[in-house]
Amino acid sequence: MRILLHRADGVTEPWVRDFAELLPEAEVVVWQEGASIAPCDYAVLWMPPDGLLADLAHVKAIFLTGAGADAILKYGDALPPVPIIRLGDAGMAIQMAEYVSHYVLRYFRRLDEYEKQARAGSWAQLPQHRKEDFSVGVMGMGALGMRTIEALLPFGFPVRGWSRTARQVDGVQCFSGADGLDEFLSGTRVLVCMLPLTPDTANLLDRARLSQLPQGAYLINVARGAHVAEPDLLALVRSGHIAGAALDVFRNEPLPAPHPFWDEPRITITPHISALTIRTESIRQMVGKIRALENGEPVADVVDRTRGY
Ligand code: NDP
Repeated sequence: MRILLHRADGVTEPWVRDFAELLPEAEVVVWQEGASIAPCDYAVLWMPPDGLLADLAHVKAIFLTGAGADAILKYGDALPPVPIIRLGDAGMAIQMAEYVSHYVLRYFRRLDEYEKQARAGSWAQLPQHRKEDFSVGVMGMGALGMRTIEALLPFGFPVRGWSRTARQVDGVQCFSGADGLDEFLSGTRVLVCMLPLTPDTANLLDRARLSQLPQGAYLINVARGAHVAEPDLLALVRSGHIAGAALDVFRNEPLPAPHPFWDEPRITITPHISALTIRTESIRQMVGKIRALENGEPVADVVDRTRGY
């Protein structure tokens, strides 16, 4: 068995080593621009360069080293008609829950303001926010969104969720589809975007939709930069309608300099770290799925190309 590996960061040695340990029957071939590659059975990649597509001609399945499929689905019909299999959690869900809980609590407990006060040498107790006014709305109730919802519930925030298809979750007010979006947004104080990037969700959070959030709302985006119309968000933060945002993802990454987000103190920037791929856990999951495919068994997390996730 031959596995074609591409790593955009160029760090391939630990991947080759872990595959050798967990799937000794496989030979891992590291993809290199211009090199002649013998046909491979499986591909392991995330953001493949254009030149790699021709080398996918013989694979039986494409494994993504991330949870999102947008970086490969952009190639559309140029991709072979084989299963594209994304990571299902693989250690990312708990990281998302940590990141989102941190920013929800930071805003709820006004810790961002206390940090600013402390730098100015000010000792002053601010009025507490009321928890019942602090509904947290999670867009995307999938592997990552549900783990975050589970983490938020014990704090006692009113939690709501929005998904494509209708769901029922104990203790969570659920909304779905375009029909449920207005009501979801208008009652959400902290909006958390955990959606896949698809034609339906790109630019979803534009001026009109962000304006539906109540005055003083806060945005946490851990999904993809293209969900948010950046100039619209900036204008609403500057106008005070949106109190602030914690952004982990951006239209252009690394976030270029200059960019107005860098200079806006109410916008917190992190460099796409809310959930990192955990190599060994991911390889273990991929190896299990390769073994299942070799035995003709079904596998989870196959991307539905028509849905876009
Ligand atoms: P899942 O596929 O498990 O869940 C996706 C959720 O989004 C589902 O609840 C789905 O609805 C919902 N959804 C999809 N399209 C729509 C729509 N048009 N309207 C309403 N809801 C919709 O994905 P994961 O939870 O595993 O991952 C989510 C995303 O997180 C990834 O696609 C990726 O972009 C991002 N991500 C970001 C990372 C980072 O470091 N910043 C790391 C990892 C992932 P339904 O339940 O009806 O199917």
